[in-house]
Amino acid sequence: MFPLYTGAQDCDILVTNGKIIDGTGNSWYYGNVAVKDGKIIKIGRDVNLSATKTIDAKGMIVAPGFIDVHTHLEGDEKSDLNATNFILDGVTTCITGNCGSSNIDIGKYLKWIDSFKLSINVATLVGHNDIRKAVMGRANRDATADEMKQMDELVDKAMRDGAVGFSTGLLYIPGAYAKTPEIIELAKVAAKYNGVYATHMRDEGDSIDEAIRESLTIGREAKIPVEISHFKCSGQQNWGKSKLTVPMIEAARREGIEVTIDQYPYTASSTSVSQLIPGEILADGQDSIKVRLQNQGIKKYVIGYMLKNLKKRKLKHFGYVVVAYYSPDTSYNGKSIEQINLMKGRKHKRKAEAETIIDIMIAGGASAVFHGMSENDVKRIMQYPFNMFASDASIRTFGFGMPHPRGYGTNARVLAEYVRDQHVISLEEAIRRMTSLPAQKFQLKNRGLLREGYAADIVIFDEKEVQDVSTYDKPHAYSKGFHFVIVNGVLTVDNEIHLGIRAGNALYGPGHN
Ligand SMILES: [Zn+2]
Repeated sequence: MFPLYTGAQDCDILVTNGKIIDGTGNSWYYGNVAVKDGKIIKIGRDVNLSATKTIDAKGMIVAPGFIDVHTHLEGDEKSDLNATNFILDGVTTCITGNCGSSNIDIGKYLKWIDSFKLSINVATLVGHNDIRKAVMGRANRDATADEMKQMDELVDKAMRDGAVGFSTGLLYIPGAYAKTPEIIELAKVAAKYNGVYATHMRDEGDSIDEAIRESLTIGREAKIPVEISHFKCSGQQNWGKSKLTVPMIEAARREGIEVTIDQYPYTASSTSVSQLIPGEILADGQDSIKVRLQNQGIKKYVIGYMLKNLKKRKLKHFGYVVVAYYSPDTSYNGKSIEQINLMKGRKHKRKAEAETIIDIMIAGGASAVFHGMSENDVKRIMQYPFNMFASDASIRTFGFGMPHPRGYGTNARVLAEYVRDQHVISLEEAIRRMTSLPAQKFQLKNRGLLREGYAADIVIFDEKEVQDVSTYDKPHAYSKGFHFVIVNGVLTVDNEIHLGIRAGNALYGPGHN
């Protein structure tokens, strides 16, 4: 029935007839949700208020907006202010600053985010690599006492300015040059402000058990909650190791270490091609890398190193590495190293492919997709109840490069492939891991649940229709099935159309003063 006059209404939006999954992991139930002034004001079977806008969610799931705990927005904030790839995958909040890479002046960053507004909420960690770079460049050595003090102060200020925690990327430069005590000391600073320690571990393959032990040591010594990022078993020779690594996490929790993990639901990873090169070659910046790789002796050593690692993977060629973006020659984008090597008229030999990798590195490097995980490990990790889902992605510029599909389809893929089609976990469980678990871990108060008084971040989707569309070959495709998305009480997606509304806010961490 239509209202006879347009006077003051009880609420802004009333969502009716939906199956409510509130984020706790409880079963769905039929009910209505009323939203006013950015908040959920009523929820339940008995809610019937007059509303400016009524959404009929018949046959659909009504859930809290998803919180993506592992993103890399830095530098791409203005690529698409609508953050369409996230919003159309059900994400209403991103946590950025992961893998040790972030802005340093967090207060300035969060204010800047609020100055132009995105369609998503943004919280950030402060990253060790950038802190270390600011104080000691890309030097391959321990920090002096004075440098430690400067890094402590930067982390301290970042936490007071609103960071939700401290992140490391110990596989990257210069994080890889830092030893465990340096990380413990900086993590203690974040712990003082109730932050989280999120880590891209030193190793995710051959030495993964050692890397997990290091993460747990940091949690134990610094008395800080640990989040192990993009948990995986990398490299064909390590397939099946999740039988060992997931129990390590379970044992640590029994010991009292507050550790949780996250993953993206794919068997390929994505990072820089530099990953293939020994860490010591990457010190001191691009000019130094170039000089080193042009030295015949060093080049021979690097080729030997790469071929040894390829053999460990039981592979004959570098076909598992697919370039995502190479700025000097975009015809490389979407092609494997094996293909690029042939394009260059070189022999179909792994040694020639290694030389092609060196050429790419000398020209400044490239980002790439690495096909190196097993489906069984992905599923085993997924079944661990304190694992979250995270895209490890940025705001995508539609059509640009050949990025990993996870930036478009992470949540839809979990809901379609692993919940609906393969029954790896239940729908309510998947939603819990996308909503209340991340909110609890990162202390995003009043989010992650459909509760009276909570922020009205809401997604309404069809569980039969929801589908990731983005693939490795055609990555630029938005997920399907998210019919309505509400951010901070404002309708942002209406019937699967992004309205161009940007109601996201910067979110501040527990140490903010
Ligand atoms: Zn990472």
